[in-house]
Amino acid sequence: MPRPFKCRQVGCKPDISYFKPRGIPVNKLEEVILTMDEFESVRLADLEGMYQDDAAKKMNISRQTFGNIVKSAHKKIAEALVNGKAIKIEGGIYQMEGMRKFKCCECEHTWEVAYGLGRPPECPKCQSNNIHRDREDCGHARSGRLGQGRKRCRRMPI
Ligand SMILES: [Zn+2]
Repeated sequence: MPRPFKCRQVGCKPDISYFKPRGIPVNKLEEVILTMDEFESVRLADLEGMYQDDAAKKMNISRQTFGNIVKSAHKKIAEALVNGKAIKIEGGIYQMEGMRKFKCCECEHTWEVAYGLGRPPECPKCQSNNIHRDREDCGHARSGRLGQGRKRCRRMPI
């Protein structure tokens, strides 16, 4: 029975989104599609070693849903390894975390900048450099809620 999807938070886009076994011609190659939320679940659970409870919170989903996602991800990865299939990482219902909100003190313009792009030098609307982080967003930054994952993704254009 289909239920409405909650938006799944994903903290990191993969550098490489296609894995292919060596020596198999493309026309004979079968693919499994690993969705971005499945990729993220594996990153959190297996690579970062997070507890399912914590990882589920980080992705803004229930623990049960997280369990299902990570199980599905493991099955797909196993299928690719065992049967020599390619893995393509794309799609899924997700939302990138870690956008920073800025506000211009001159013209009140607000806009978002992805982590990794650095602090904008000026307001894109009026070119004033009298800008600051939006208050609500600063609160999140202080609490460290997004934690380590973000740092690993510094270089990534989002
Ligand atoms: Zn401005």
